[in-house]
Amino acid sequence: MIKDAAVFSAADLALLARGEGPLKTLHPPARLAIFGDPVAHSASPPMQNAALTARGIDAQYVRIRVTAEELPVALKNLAPAGFLGASLTIPHKQTSLPLMDEISREARLMGAINTVKVVEGKLQGDNTDGPGLSAAIHEEFGIPLRDLRVLILGGAGGAGRAITVQCALKGCPAITIANRNPAKGDCLATEIRESLGTEVASIALDPEDLRATLYSVDLIINATPLGMKADDPSPLPEGLLSSHHLVYDTVYSGGETALLKQARLACARSANGFSMLLHQGVLQNTVWFGEPAPLETMRTALAALRS
Ligand code: NAP
Repeated sequence: MIKDAAVFSAADLALLARGEGPLKTLHPPARLAIFGDPVAHSASPPMQNAALTARGIDAQYVRIRVTAEELPVALKNLAPAGFLGASLTIPHKQTSLPLMDEISREARLMGAINTVKVVEGKLQGDNTDGPGLSAAIHEEFGIPLRDLRVLILGGAGGAGRAITVQCALKGCPAITIANRNPAKGDCLATEIRESLGTEVASIALDPEDLRATLYSVDLIINATPLGMKADDPSPLPEGLLSSHHLVYDTVYSGGETALLKQARLACARSANGFSMLLHQGVLQNTVWFGEPAPLETMRTALAALRS
């Protein structure tokens, strides 16, 4: 039986690596997992298990609570436990980089790993958050990311950095990051100029800087956590949005965030982070199995969580 909701521990994974413990009793056998702390809230297991079933693969994807201290050993146990790979979430995306045998160019530039694949006992690290965002923007607005002038709120944070690098890799005509701590934004802009030769403007998250930038922006992406809680304010001051703007909120809490409400009142097109969550998962599944994942099956499984 598929154990979507159960939470296993790093100790359980260590036992499985020795052929024992509760993970050993699962049918279909556990072959993929999400590592995080906390991990109970993750939407990935139903989505990935639906894909495994649709592919006819006799395996299941489980939640494993792995603390920061446990990560190095948990990653080492993936191969002996017979796992194909794992998803990484908070707090492991950045700290896992030195623990990989190989890292994709994209993940290195993004400074974070969300996908681990086990290949002949070695760990390959990848990042599907940036490509997932790119697929989500195309799907939601019908315009390729590469054609849009983009403003990323919280652009120097974890997801924000992946999105900013993705915009640079896609060759967006203009990229601006607005970070609460502008010095972090300045550092990332310098790093991207030096590594990719792409100019990224860095501004403060303040009304004057934002007003001066927004008239020449097509797409605004919120990559701050503002909106995760129902009473969070918008990261954008009032009165700055126009109907020509496209607004993407990476938050996928389900309700209308304050930013999405601003977009609605300004008659701007908008979407929430559900599609990014879906596409980053679809791309993870594609990395593990080397062929396109069942997108619509995964979309239905994810949508069922919200109904
Ligand atoms: P993070 O690494 O902690 O980064 C947070 C960013 O937001 C930083 O730039 C930070 O600025 C800024 N920030 C934090 N609190 C703020 C506040 N009160 N006002 C203004 N700026 C603030 O977080 P993360 O892991 O990247 O997550 C960010 C968001 O992305 C979350 O909402 C998460 O749900 C979303 N996300 C969505 C998906 C998806 O698939 N849809 C995937 C990943 C993440 P400083 O640098 O100044 O601290």
